[in-house]
Amino acid sequence: MYDSFHRPINYLRVSVTDRCNLRCVYCMPEEGVPYIPHSRVLSLEEIAEAVRVAVDLGVHKVRLTGGEPLVRKGIVELVKMLSAIDGIKDLAMTTNGVLLTRYAEKLKRAGLDRVNISLDTMDPEEYRRITRRGDLNEVLEGIKAARRAGLFPIKLNAVIPPNGDRSQALQVAEFAKENGFQARFIQQMNLQAGEFSIVEGGEGGNCARCNRLRLSSEGVVYPCLFSDNGYSIRRFGPREAFLKAVKHKPAQGLISNNNTFYKLGG
Ligand code: SAM
Ligand code: SF4
Repeated sequence: MYDSFHRPINYLRVSVTDRCNLRCVYCMPEEGVPYIPHSRVLSLEEIAEAVRVAVDLGVHKVRLTGGEPLVRKGIVELVKMLSAIDGIKDLAMTTNGVLLTRYAEKLKRAGLDRVNISLDTMDPEEYRRITRRGDLNEVLEGIKAARRAGLFPIKLNAVIPPNGDRSQALQVAEFAKENGFQARFIQQMNLQAGEFSIVEGGEGGNCARCNRLRLSSEGVVYPCLFSDNGYSIRRFGPREAFLKAVKHKPAQGLISNNNTFYKLGG
């Protein structure tokens, strides 16, 4: 698939839930958010069918995200369904890592290739402050479990706070280097204010080379994180929804009044 700016579109990010076991200060309010009722959330079969259609249309890279993908019931089953689809060259997940000790091995066996783990600091107190409830040790154990399971390469995503202080992220990069992981830095963004950032060490944020579409847990295909135009796969059917999203992919991100990271997974 090519969009109207001749960019090849071959990467689909799938948010499998809007729920999360953490409450990161830059992502969710402390009290949480009103959850999308179960009836509106796509079933595992609907997600798999949508991905199948996307692959038929030329997608070959798929990333599961959230909310926190590992709190979605049946996530291992979903990975199994997706890894059975011919044509996916790269099946990855972005996770906060808290539940990886429980799931890494099962995910690998189900066919997941690799994980990106969000980690902003190596300091346990700072980690608890940022995530409002997380235990750094659980994440570090989760990272080890991912390595043992052979999920490779492991990338660590660190958000840089608005004051630009990189000291915490640099410690994450040091930890990554010592252990053979890759670290990527991302500036904290504000979608509503149209504050946009390039991912250092990654591909995100470079509009001219953007190759992605996003599927929300409610089944809406968004052409851009910074766009309120979405096309429901339940309303249009997956094929039409993907084609409409590709057709309306903007040249670059603008402002989104509705989208949030916990809905679209970053
Ligand atoms: N829960 C999983 C996790 O944290 O990895 C997946 C979903 S989370 C929304 C995906 C990524 O978005 C995380 O790496 C997180 O740090 C990032 N993120 C969330 N809010 C952000 C913001 N306001 N600016 C920049 N990145 C953000
Ligand atoms: Fe949850 Fe990820 Fe958002 Fe943190 S960034 S609150 S872990 S969805």
